[in-house]
Amino acid sequence: MSLFDVSERAAKYRSDLLEFMNSAVYPAESVYETQMAEAGDPHFQPPILEELKAQARERGLWNLFHPHPEWGPGLTNLEYAPLAEIMGRSPHLAPEACNCSAPDTGNMEVFTLFGSDEHKEKYLKPLLEGTIRSAFVMTEPQVASSDATNVQMSMAKEGDEYILNGRKWFASNALHAHCKVMIVMGKTDPDTATHRQQSMMVVPIDAPGVTIMRGLPVFGYQDREGHAEIDFRDVRVPAKDVLKGEGEGFAIAQARLGPGRIHHCMRAIGMAERALELLCKRAQSRVTFGKPISDNANIRDWIAEARIDIEMIRLLTLKAAYLMDTVGNKAAQVEIAAIKVAAPEIALKIVDRAIQVHGAGGVTDDFPLAAFWAHLRTLRLADGPDEVHKRAIARQELAKYKEAR
Ligand SMILES: Cc1cc2nc3c(=O)[nH]c(=O)nc-3n(C[C@H](O)[C@H](O)[C@H](O)COP(=O)(O)OP(=O)(O)OC[C@H]3O[C@@H](n4cnc5c(N)ncnc54)[C@H](O)[C@@H]3O)c2cc1C
Repeated sequence: MSLFDVSERAAKYRSDLLEFMNSAVYPAESVYETQMAEAGDPHFQPPILEELKAQARERGLWNLFHPHPEWGPGLTNLEYAPLAEIMGRSPHLAPEACNCSAPDTGNMEVFTLFGSDEHKEKYLKPLLEGTIRSAFVMTEPQVASSDATNVQMSMAKEGDEYILNGRKWFASNALHAHCKVMIVMGKTDPDTATHRQQSMMVVPIDAPGVTIMRGLPVFGYQDREGHAEIDFRDVRVPAKDVLKGEGEGFAIAQARLGPGRIHHCMRAIGMAERALELLCKRAQSRVTFGKPISDNANIRDWIAEARIDIEMIRLLTLKAAYLMDTVGNKAAQVEIAAIKVAAPEIALKIVDRAIQVHGAGGVTDDFPLAAFWAHLRTLRLADGPDEVHKRAIARQELAKYKEAR
């Protein structure tokens, strides 16, 4: 299959998903806002979302991300990319409605690859059913966590248990009304080789000693899934809940973040597309100084640049997806890092211009643009800050000419 061919099954999912977006998801957006406002609780699970989940399931638009046919349609990354992009156009509703939201997708892959039979029964199955949610808990407030080797949480072995002590933050999803389980990274052996010190463990969110301290706001928004600061005080974890084995935490983190990163990029392109659509509609429907705003040369320039930029980031995303499918995540690491830098940055620029064209309305919640902006800005940090990805790309580039050193 060439890069530009779409398989028959991917084309079918695409048209079914577009139909679902038009007939159910976009009309649900205002209902969602009303239900959230009426609940007065930012972490409320609104009935409209449960209705959308049931509909998506009925339409076969469920677990679209899952690469294993046993659990989902078994699409390749290249086939999934256009679908994730479409879901990204309504980021508060569509990904969760189709059971394709972060960080659950990454966690489901970890449970699939490294979970015991018990983990699969207790957590993977309900995650795949969409009845529970999960969090991925690595970042700590006290250390620079973009270098995961800095993570300090102590995981001390005592008999056939580990005792967890430490403070974590930015655990996305931990405040979701349905969150039941966390995958937690800490240090089991601070004295061994740097990349063998860390382990990952499965911890129920209500385990004794786990205290959710607060939900961290993002540009003033309390996201529905929440980003929690969590205290772990003498939390006892049975040895059977260590994933893959002691010292394997770093390896799991690397495996987990590849697909998750590119999914974020695909959804970012969807946000950029929707922002461009809103920009064009608004610019043509509002008039200043006797002509539509869209008749000004600078606005046309922005529109053209946005189209060019979207096409470029989409192509790079598809290339990264194609390489992940054909030569593997490791061999695709430069392209994954490159798109993780480019997609949020470019989408952010397009959303910013769409906000400008909307005037004061652009910064309100009457349009999705302000929330898109806040979300995309955080993507320049989450799953690795831009600079860390650029560092990895530069290292590979320099390695080509190392004889010059
Ligand atoms: C909305 C949101 C959701 C998140 N969700 C999760 C989650 O679910 N689970 C989780 O564990 N974490 C999560 N994170 C945390 C995220 O992964 C970290 O913020 C990120 O890894 C950076 O770590 P840090 O914040 O400690 O920044 P630091 O490591 O302190 O780095 C600060 C800054 O230093 C600069 N920098 C770092 N290294 C270099 C370098 N080599 N060269 C040049 N500059 C450099 C970068 O600009 C970086 O932003 C989330 C973050 C956000 C904002």
